[in-house]
Amino acid sequence: MEIFDTIILGAGAAGLFCAHFAAATGQRVLIVDHARRPAEKVRISGGGRCNFTNLYAEAGNYLSQNPHFAKSALARYTQWDFIDLLARHDITWHEKTPEKGLGQLFCDGKSAAIIDMLLTEARLAELRLATEVGEISHDGTHFTVLLNGTPVQTHNLVVATGGKSIPKMGATGLGYQIATHFGLNVLETRPGLVPLTFAPHELDWIAPLAGTAVEARVTANGTSFDEALLFTHRGLSGPAILQISNYWREGDAISLDLLPSQNAFEALKAARQDNGRRQMQTALATLLPGKLATALTEKFALKGNLADQSDKALKELADQIHGLKLKPTGSEGYRTAEVTLGGVDTNGLSSRTMEAKAVPGLYFIGEVVDVTGWLGGYNFQWAWASAAACGRAIAER
Ligand code: FAD
Repeated sequence: MEIFDTIILGAGAAGLFCAHFAAATGQRVLIVDHARRPAEKVRISGGGRCNFTNLYAEAGNYLSQNPHFAKSALARYTQWDFIDLLARHDITWHEKTPEKGLGQLFCDGKSAAIIDMLLTEARLAELRLATEVGEISHDGTHFTVLLNGTPVQTHNLVVATGGKSIPKMGATGLGYQIATHFGLNVLETRPGLVPLTFAPHELDWIAPLAGTAVEARVTANGTSFDEALLFTHRGLSGPAILQISNYWREGDAISLDLLPSQNAFEALKAARQDNGRRQMQTALATLLPGKLATALTEKFALKGNLADQSDKALKELADQIHGLKLKPTGSEGYRTAEVTLGGVDTNGLSSRTMEAKAVPGLYFIGEVVDVTGWLGGYNFQWAWASAAACGRAIAER
């Protein structure tokens, strides 16, 4: 039987990166994946340019039942470490919309450059693609894993199989099954960074706006994001909605401020004073995209011109613009979700090494762990940092 020091399940962002560290001291490392190509999510990420990290990444940008868990790994492998690595591979990058201060770093070229870099860094490990992972057993010292029906043995088993998002791209949830098999707790999973859907009575006014975008502040459960909001045929999307979807739960309402940069009441009063004969729709269209102004005029049955509106009527309209309450019926689900919330309970893992406390030699890294980042490069930074923590610990064993 073949014997390895370390087998890494999943040749995605975390798995490939872990292999680089784990194989650095001459250990025999095998990476396996059932897909035909490695790191498919890296390839499609960031619209093909991979938003590979975030300048401001820190534990506060992550959701987890234990908000402290990610701190250690993130501090020991930072965004600056990854930026240095890109420089060593001559990969150039830029900050998207630096004026917004979001810190999102993208490749200047295609995300394939990151995959090439990961493969180069992992070259001391063996990579087997199109390999089905079967039964896994443990005799206290070794793990035996069936790969395409053939048993292989390993001292360390690293689970880097990601979450459930986008099954079409090979997501299976295998990591959660392995965790459960070895007695680890798995917290309820749900789709994250995902568009929200609405009931027909809301879609009546939302769907005709499909393609319209507006800078908005979206709030749910006490958390707000100021980013672009996009109306779609199925509901709401865009960065602001993807961000808030991580905090939204079934049954909750969300609140939209469609004009966060201005005071709508003051702006409408000034417009009334300036030219009271202006139609309501025309007046709103000076503050909001034209189609949205038309839709709101109809939604709130606004009649007449500005001069016909009392202060009270303008205030009520402004309150709606700044705090439009909507109740999503659901999300687009794992089909389009960028990440999976929940997962392997961090209480069962060492935050320094990612090793299961109750099963020495078994490690969980990347998205399979209950650590989920905001939109904007945070999820890859977690993949790099958790992989480095695990890979270095293995190399030192
Ligand atoms: P993955 O990258 O998902 O890798 C898991 C690997 O395990 C895959 O190769 C898969 O084939 C393999 N696998 C799964 N099941 C099995 C099995 N049963 N047997 C064998 N192998 C298996 N994050 C960012 O930070 N920036 C972005 O720009 C960004 N853009 C994204 C765009 C999209 C459309 C999506 C879906 C996600 C995006 N993300 C982004 C999130 C990011 O891709 C993930 O957080 C990250 O890939 C997680 O890394 P991972 O290695 O844990 O899992």
